[in-house]
Amino acid sequence: MSDEEVRLRGVGVSAGIGRGTVFIHHPEDEEPPKKKIDSSDVSGEIARFEAALIATRAQILEMQQKIAEAIGAKDASIFDAHLLVVEDHTLIDEVLRTLRRDLWNVEFVFSEVANRYARTLSEIDDPYLRERAFDIHDVTKRIIRNLLGRSGRPLSQMEEPHIIVAHNLTPSDAATLNRQYVLGIATDIGSRTSHTAIMARSLNIPAIVGLKDASSRLKNGDHVLLDGNTGLLILNPADQALWEYGELEVRLEQVEEQLTSLRDTACVTTDGTEIILSANIELPEDVSLVNQAGARGVGLYRTEFFFLNKTELPNEEEQFRAYQAVAQAVYPQTVIIRTLDLGGDKFLSHSHIPMEINPFLGCRAIRFCLERPDIFKAQLRAILRASVAGNVRLMYPMISGLSELRQANEVLESCRAELRTDGIQFNEEMETGIMIEIPSAVLVADALAKEADFFSIGTNDLIQYTVAVDRVNERIAHLYEPTHPAIVRLLEMTVTAAHSNDIWVGVCGEMAGEVALTPLLVGLGVDELSASPGLVPRVKKAVQTLNAKQCAQLAAEIRTMTSATEILAKCEAVARKHYPELLTLSGGAE
Ligand code: PEP
Ligand code: MG
Repeated sequence: MSDEEVRLRGVGVSAGIGRGTVFIHHPEDEEPPKKKIDSSDVSGEIARFEAALIATRAQILEMQQKIAEAIGAKDASIFDAHLLVVEDHTLIDEVLRTLRRDLWNVEFVFSEVANRYARTLSEIDDPYLRERAFDIHDVTKRIIRNLLGRSGRPLSQMEEPHIIVAHNLTPSDAATLNRQYVLGIATDIGSRTSHTAIMARSLNIPAIVGLKDASSRLKNGDHVLLDGNTGLLILNPADQALWEYGELEVRLEQVEEQLTSLRDTACVTTDGTEIILSANIELPEDVSLVNQAGARGVGLYRTEFFFLNKTELPNEEEQFRAYQAVAQAVYPQTVIIRTLDLGGDKFLSHSHIPMEINPFLGCRAIRFCLERPDIFKAQLRAILRASVAGNVRLMYPMISGLSELRQANEVLESCRAELRTDGIQFNEEMETGIMIEIPSAVLVADALAKEADFFSIGTNDLIQYTVAVDRVNERIAHLYEPTHPAIVRLLEMTVTAAHSNDIWVGVCGEMAGEVALTPLLVGLGVDELSASPGLVPRVKKAVQTLNAKQCAQLAAEIRTMTSATEILAKCEAVARKHYPELLTLSGGAE
């Protein structure tokens, strides 16, 4: 591409403007492409292969030297085994033979031969040879990255601020980011309620998804401007665009400043209805954002992210320390610790959990925990132990019915009994609530409400499971409608079931942070809203501007409506009348 300005359009999923150079991220375990070649191409492929081996050797030597300087020659000697792989003639000769015989591109041939070689070694019952298999695996990835001309740096080792551009960024990638260097995130695929987008919002990192082919059109070092409000990514922004965005940033900062002044004010409607406004966090260190945002504690702590950015499962002690730190940081406010919600779009890279064809409908969240009581109990014990450090509540995700809640509570009870026997303190009164995010749970909410201390509605999943729209599939994102009349009815049924059984009900899905929908949620009688910390100030402003009786009237009118678009328009009209500046906060300078 020349230096001309080029505009790429996607979907803005985390507001804000980022400007900087591109860092293209390729997943580590991406399969190399497979292409037929002509016999006349063989010498060219061999030359590429030799160049990649030389480059890889130089990189390994450089790493070895750095490690030797930093921690000593002994630790650096582990790279000797890596160097042996680059010089292994049996492996290299087989690659050349296969290349000449089968006529496939060299990265494909090399990957096939090296994987076969590593597999054979790993199957031999000898610890030394098994280690060699790991070395081959590591070096293979590096050689393939060199063959493909890709940067070998993983995201976690980014050393300067960049805009990350990727085909896809998994929640595990997001959890291992070195955030201080991330100016923005742009991906080819993805959606607003994918956990990567959720995490970007929590961290106030501007983000765009659904850019289709941005990761192949852009290259490392390109200069871009990213508008997370409108979903516009501008390559080589011209003076006019830079000037317009400069102006926009000044306007946005002014609105943000006004919102900051609300930090210590109460979240109460003009007619005196208080809404508990709390924040969602993904990692323990995010807790500082909660207090800064003026939220009342943590309404949803997604504990699985603590597992995603580790190379091994965190043990009970590590978890205890993390939960305790969060409980102490928000005290005297409350933290609602949600038990592991692995599966769906969140996977552990280090434990050998089989892949499923349909992970969102598979062994996810509470189902996984009930299948793995060892992992579940370690977490429950850690939460119970942390419960004396502050105000801690526990919440189970993905409860589909009463028997699941009872099974989870039985495991919890067994953990309590163990701690009592061991004389370890915990809060006997700790409240236990459940997420309402599966339609079946709504339909039996009256029964669940008798055995749970509170409900928190996970609209992200409730919507996907109700309208059968995969929340991370951008092709059908237009069908993912929070204002679908079915969703409005399910929300209302949940609130009614909770209140008639004297328990409170909150919303912790992304709907809670959408100021256009605040009038509807307040009107339905929701007691608590829990949103990304970055969105908390605007939700507070929205609530403070609304009248709860008028919102209830709005909800009553919406009850008779049948079109998602019309319901959305009706909510937006109320929002625009009361707080137009909050809606334009998500407008751009196009
Ligand atoms: C939800 O489903 O709305 C929710 C809050 O949980 P998660 O987004 O982590 O699935
Ligand atoms: Mg959920």
